[in-house]
Amino acid sequence: MHTYQRLPVTFERGEGAWLTDTGGKRYLDALGGIAVCALGYAHPAVAEAIADQAGRLLHVSNLYGIAEQQQLGETLCRLSGMERVFFGNSGAEANEAAIKLARLYAHRQGIEKPNIVVMENSFHGRTLATLSATGNRKVQAGFEPLVQGFVRAPFNDLDAIRAVADNGSDVVAVLVEPIQGEGGIRTPDPGYLEGIRAICDEQQWLMMLDEIQTGMGRTGRYFAFQHSDAVPDVMTLAKALGNGVPIGACLARGTAADLFAPGHHGSTFGGNPLACRAAQAVCETLASEKLPERAAQLGEMLLTHLREALTGIDAVQDIRGRGLMIGIELDRPCGELVGMALEGGLLINVTAANVIRLLPPFILSDDEAGQLVSTLTGVIRELISRD
Ligand SMILES: *Cc1c(COP(=O)(O)O)cnc(C)c1O
Repeated sequence: MHTYQRLPVTFERGEGAWLTDTGGKRYLDALGGIAVCALGYAHPAVAEAIADQAGRLLHVSNLYGIAEQQQLGETLCRLSGMERVFFGNSGAEANEAAIKLARLYAHRQGIEKPNIVVMENSFHGRTLATLSATGNRKVQAGFEPLVQGFVRAPFNDLDAIRAVADNGSDVVAVLVEPIQGEGGIRTPDPGYLEGIRAICDEQQWLMMLDEIQTGMGRTGRYFAFQHSDAVPDVMTLAKALGNGVPIGACLARGTAADLFAPGHHGSTFGGNPLACRAAQAVCETLASEKLPERAAQLGEMLLTHLREALTGIDAVQDIRGRGLMIGIELDRPCGELVGMALEGGLLINVTAANVIRLLPPFILSDDEAGQLVSTLTGVIRELISRD
């Protein structure tokens, strides 16, 4: 169905940070399938794990023990400090699991109509509950009635969350992205996550982080919350977790970890041997190649070079981000840049109408980072001189 306005290009294969189209033209990928291909294309460790697993066992059922799922669960818990994991097949499913956990948590306390605090400008997915949680009317319009049980606060505004608490509106959880991705790479002030943690502790709410875009090393740590002193009760992952093999995960600790009992939730495909084996290979490669550290270093380098190259251009309002999650905000809509960069052999994205979004793979070389900056700043200058 016509759910996407597609660009006029089709890719045939990829290697490292590069994609080749059906005509043989090569493109440097600064988007990585929207934060998915953190290890780039055709990474040997992931390709070998998938091939080996395909020759052994693709699927059984969650009715049986699955060693690959057990191993991945333990790895993710060790990396994050969480205690239990539910596996699904996408980000939206991971968030659905988190929302269901919050509802169970409420009903345990006799709260019949619980609310979850969600943020303006947020993105949590396209299923009915997750689009209802999303703070973007374009995602919701046409799909009413929305799922109830969400109250909204502005992002990066602790007082607004406290005001919701004071309203006594049967809130049981906060769901927030540590950095808003689709919303335009919006980074909150230092102390924001710690502030949310403090409110959640005081109110006995669950702190739930959507790390679907920020997680798996992208911001320079395995998870973005690890830049702060706060640890969430629930965290969701997807995107880079399988480097392209569909997988999502909802992790929890403490009370939240023990809410689901047999019969409460499930998935036919979720946590299957193939997807878990691929994700395990991703985790092992992130560690062995020290890729979160590399993402931090590349991010610093890109921010510095972009700021240098774009200095003095009034149309550039802000250059921000953390690790390899970078946004360049212009003073005008700049969707056209995507096609201009494509012509020039560079894949980028524009989100929130006027924010150029870069989510490149962590395996980028210094030379490739330099090439990214020169092509991108070239097309930005061209667009601005045209207007
Ligand atoms: C991409 C994304 C989702 C949705 O993930 P899907 O796999 O597309 O369902 C949810 N939350 C955030 C923050 C995302 O970036």
